[in-house]
Amino acid sequence: MPREIRAFDSRRPMLSVVVPCYNEREVLAHTHARLTEVLGALEEFDCEQIFVDDGSSDGTWEVVKALAKDSDGVRALRLGRNFGHQAACLAGLRNAAGDAVVVIDADLQDPPELIAEMAALWRDGWSVVSARRRSRAGESVFKKASAYAFYRLVSALSEQPPALDTGDFRLLDRALVRLLAESRDKNLYLRGAVSWFGFPETHIDYDRAPRHAGTSQYTLRKMLALSRRGLLSDSAVPLRLTTYLGTAVLVGGAATAAFRRDLGVLTGSAAFGSQALALGIVGEYLHAVFRQVQGRPDYTVAERLGPLSPSHPVEERVNL
Ligand code: UDP
Ligand code: MG
Repeated sequence: MPREIRAFDSRRPMLSVVVPCYNEREVLAHTHARLTEVLGALEEFDCEQIFVDDGSSDGTWEVVKALAKDSDGVRALRLGRNFGHQAACLAGLRNAAGDAVVVIDADLQDPPELIAEMAALWRDGWSVVSARRRSRAGESVFKKASAYAFYRLVSALSEQPPALDTGDFRLLDRALVRLLAESRDKNLYLRGAVSWFGFPETHIDYDRAPRHAGTSQYTLRKMLALSRRGLLSDSAVPLRLTTYLGTAVLVGGAATAAFRRDLGVLTGSAAFGSQALALGIVGEYLHAVFRQVQGRPDYTVAERLGPLSPSHPVEERVNL
């Protein structure tokens, strides 16, 4: 349950909307217009929109610059290259000034109109309001099936499972934004990390629209990278699997050998397969630790429009 109804006596609360964008030139003006309409109707809030250009190559930044020039309440960052969706979201969160911050996709698959409902639930005291996909229009059978299976797998394995069928479209309270912004996790899997902190959390169901324009920027490779993060950062089960598997193969091999008195080839190949698999899984964790130890920044900032957020908590590496 939420802790308490939020009350602001002396000032209006602020709501930030973070929009990660990678090659979204065609849709951004629509997204900005829809957001402006929704935010304009939220009379009790001051609002800002923060566009994070994640190293686009299609002229997205020119569109963002024009939007920032023509309208109040727009700030923007251009990252040094394409660092990926999670890094772009993190950059937005670190730069958001809001008491509540909403992360939303740029392509209008996440309806901006839901933000009003999220803001109302935040005022009721919820710290996390996730948008849960009831249906996904205009997406391939592969995408729907893999997402369905993946969310359930992560949920079954995770220490603190995130709400099923939610992406990164959600509202976060400032206290949680600060914790995420200060996180040193180089393999940050936002939707998992959000639930891990244990803030009061609720969700709204919605039907996911098809893309307004352009094509999905989540290539199979990026989807696999995200799934790896989801599985490795909130669960030690894959690592333990090697122990179970190794034990099972050893016992099974010994039993078969005893029973048949020979079958060296079969048991040999089973042992080799399980060792290779085990090494692969250990390698994944080693790589995650390696990235952490490397201590590189999550992203670099090449350009910035509008002032730095007053609460900007973390030193950012700038490659100007
Ligand atoms: N995105 C990003 N960096 C990337 C890939 C995607 O910032 O490397 C953004 C993209 O512009 C969009 C959101 O992440 O706002 C979700 O991406 P997309 O719509 O391509 O994914 P899908 O909805 O197909 O899963
Ligand atoms: Mg999309």
